[in-house]
Amino acid sequence: MTVLEVRNPGTRGVVGSYPVHGEAEVGAAVDRARVAAAWWDGIGFRERRKRLDEFRGVIARRIDELARLVSDEMGKPHGDAYLEIALVLDHLAWAGRNAPKTLGRRRTGTGALNANLGSTLEYRPLGVVGVIGPWNYPVFTPMGSIVYALAAGNAIVFKPSEYTPGVGAWLVDAFSRIVPEQPVFQLVTGDGATGAALCRAGVDKVAFTGSTATAKRVMAVCAETLTPLVAECGGKDALLVDADADLEAAADAAAWGGIANAGQSCIGVERIYAHAAVYDVFERLLIDRVSGLRAGTDPDALVGPITMPSQVDVIESHLADALAQGGRVLAGGGETVGHVVQPVLLTDVPETSAAMREETFGPTLVLRKVRDMDEAVELTNASRYHLAASVFSKRDGERIAARIRSGMVAVNSVFSFAAVASAPFGGVGESGFGRIHGEDGLREFCYAHAVVRQRFKPPLPLMTFRRTTTSEQRLARIVALVHGRT
Ligand code: NDP
Repeated sequence: MTVLEVRNPGTRGVVGSYPVHGEAEVGAAVDRARVAAAWWDGIGFRERRKRLDEFRGVIARRIDELARLVSDEMGKPHGDAYLEIALVLDHLAWAGRNAPKTLGRRRTGTGALNANLGSTLEYRPLGVVGVIGPWNYPVFTPMGSIVYALAAGNAIVFKPSEYTPGVGAWLVDAFSRIVPEQPVFQLVTGDGATGAALCRAGVDKVAFTGSTATAKRVMAVCAETLTPLVAECGGKDALLVDADADLEAAADAAAWGGIANAGQSCIGVERIYAHAAVYDVFERLLIDRVSGLRAGTDPDALVGPITMPSQVDVIESHLADALAQGGRVLAGGGETVGHVVQPVLLTDVPETSAAMREETFGPTLVLRKVRDMDEAVELTNASRYHLAASVFSKRDGERIAARIRSGMVAVNSVFSFAAVASAPFGGVGESGFGRIHGEDGLREFCYAHAVVRQRFKPPLPLMTFRRTTTSEQRLARIVALVHGRT
């Protein structure tokens, strides 16, 4: 069997090796998961919540160890890895606690004309969910699907990114100690071909997080078997600064939201639109924040290296295109040494440039002066990506947020929606479809199951070949009375 060697992006040292699973191994995992899914569904909401709470406790107690593994495999500083994992814990608690209320059986109204009927609705688990994850948030991102799918009663076969299989293995191992009875949460490792095999293996849904380009390939494969898909894809998120914004807070958030995790965040700030009335002051504050940042592989660096070697070329090409089209560097330099790219703040970059249109996924920020928030909203919405956005405004934050076409908006903060377990997370347009987190996230991994029971014979029998002309005439009168006057 071929082996996947994982290297630390900073030191290039080997940090682990994992098997490359092919079709046969992936198929066998899905077969095992099918049996496990029936068992896991059968133990019910209460027991599942107990197990998910125990899983949460284990992650919380061993958080340092998992954070070290995240840093080793994908290069982010230990503190950032710790924060990423800490954010998952609330989701585990919320999903377990809220699954019965969101998904459990409840009565639904039948209407006056159907008074002889009683109707119930529940959300049943789909069965086996194939989760394909990226490397940039190797715990938080896949767990957004895994936790909610598990709470709903599904079994999981997880294919982590080839850059972070060890993190996936850690999670699966920790869970299997809490749920030893059945392989409810399994791991398959490998590259894109392993992911494609998982899409073809007869799973009941694929939860994909990754780039828009790969999502299109995954969707094509899923189409062969009509396998449903939730697609959490890339973004080109904007941060809008209004005339009355707290500029210190906005500059701080813009720098962190764009450059933390070396800019490798789907919801990372890539574009900033600042109101002309406060532009100069905001520009100075942002220059100050970005100038102090240094990327490196040493423990003191606040910004780590770029995880995926090919991404360095993308960042360099966006920078080159921005500069060729008249862009100016305001702070930092964007220099590359090996896998380390220095943060950079640009301005005067035309909206047609790749740096304004494509996902850069690097420690780069582009700042632009706008006439007012109308122009800021227009430019924000002009993207083909619509994942998230941030608005800084004391008075109009929520009004501006309401006009932005995206799955999530943070007002006077960045990334905050990711921490709120009840807030659904997902995109529009080329940022994907479907939702993780919150009630929508639980229902994403279920099918609606409606049961309508006849409690007594209908006063007006219509669904029978023994229907009479009299009952048809009565129906006509009822239709005219109830619906004809609107
Ligand atoms: P990729 O699209 O390269 O890969 C995502 C996953 O898909 C990986 O596990 C990859 O495996 C796998 N894969 C690759 N080819 C196929 C295929 N043909 N069939 C099935 N699976 C396949 O994304 P990255 O890992 O580079 O992650 C970065 C991207 O993820 C960015 O665009 C980012 O915006 C997005 N993202 C979106 C989030 C959201 O919630 N909207 C959150 C986090 C990231 P392998 O790595 O082994 O090739």
